[in-house]
Amino acid sequence: MGNVLFTNVRILDGSGALPTPGSVLVQGNRIRAVGRSAAAVPSAGATVIDGAGATLMPGMCEAHTHFSWNDAATLSAIQTMPLEEHVLWCAKVAKKYLEAGFTSCVGAACAKPRLDVVTRNAINSGQIPGPRYLAASQEITVPGGLGDETLPHLPFPEFSFGVNVNSADEMRKAVRMFLKYGVDTIKLNLSGDNFTPDSPADTTWMSDAEVAAAMDEVRVRRKRGTAHARSAASVKQALRHGIDVIYHASYTDEEALDMLEAAKDRVFVAPGIAILYAMLYEAEPWGITHAKAVAMGYQHEWDAAIESLRAMHKRGIRVLPGGDYGFAFTPHCQNARDLEFFVKYLGFTPMEAIRSTTLYGGQIMMKPHELGVVKEGYLADLLLVDGDPLANLSILRDPKRLLAVMKDGEFAKMPEIESERAWGRAA
Ligand SMILES: [Zn+2]
Repeated sequence: MGNVLFTNVRILDGSGALPTPGSVLVQGNRIRAVGRSAAAVPSAGATVIDGAGATLMPGMCEAHTHFSWNDAATLSAIQTMPLEEHVLWCAKVAKKYLEAGFTSCVGAACAKPRLDVVTRNAINSGQIPGPRYLAASQEITVPGGLGDETLPHLPFPEFSFGVNVNSADEMRKAVRMFLKYGVDTIKLNLSGDNFTPDSPADTTWMSDAEVAAAMDEVRVRRKRGTAHARSAASVKQALRHGIDVIYHASYTDEEALDMLEAAKDRVFVAPGIAILYAMLYEAEPWGITHAKAVAMGYQHEWDAAIESLRAMHKRGIRVLPGGDYGFAFTPHCQNARDLEFFVKYLGFTPMEAIRSTTLYGGQIMMKPHELGVVKEGYLADLLLVDGDPLANLSILRDPKRLLAVMKDGEFAKMPEIESERAWGRAA
């Protein structure tokens, strides 16, 4: 839509700096100027949007996204959705994330081999609207682990939520297949998970030889390894093998925390704590009472995760919001709730929670010098928010309060012309 000038906005730049009143000029897909007043920013020919004091901030990043989770209560109900419907589902969800203010999403596994790749490619080629997206593989797991949904009488790998491997050679084969399809990341299920019977979250399942084979292939193609790692041993295993993105990290010990801290310029932790909370307190409509969730191990894990993540935050390890939305108990597009959880449970200030989804978001998206901050030269991924997110983070999950969403210089959600916020064209 040409150049856009946001005037009369409160700029919350995402770096952690305090907000300042000012104006921001977008030219093409980049932020061209950031000034304290409209006069300080060239505006000729630009569409002017008078924010009337609204907050202008970077688009948010969801660090642990599963577009293909279809808001079902079981892994097999996700997996058995027919492919045609599943592709359409992913397209619909991608659009919803963008409109909800998530201009970047890190794919953390999909339910069929090419769902993430196809969705990413369709977004990048302009066929469908959606966030910037890093496409993941399916979960790669071992027999009996999280994601192995095969049954003895149905020995068909297509019925399994994750891809089962049983040796380093099988791992290499699976990883090569996903790399051939064009994924950005390979997801390995290193630890157990309380969601799956008989694989407690604090146990560790994959052999070092299997993880090493996977990471060999990942390095050859210059891609990224990510890990489902709830147990302390799996967190350490991920770090030893050069995995960059660690999902969950609920259980740690002093050694795991020291290793995380030593790798803090390389590693990201995206815990996805909302699902732990939801299983304990909100999953009763799907038959998981609080007592059942406690028996499944969720209270034990919640307590450990809060302690671990608070310690990580204190040590300066990058912990990012998002994760495991797309189940019945954690439906898509409530993801910004994680920011409130970070403040309530993990010791973040509201500013730190925002910085983790903006500044760190640009970093986990592999664009550390051009994404996630409102700054001259950076990519124009912006939110116009009615109100002050620092005073009330919950407005970030209220569609009515998200006045506009811009990705790459284009509006995914236009500010309403009818509103009292005037907008027009500068002379
Ligand atoms: Zn996940």
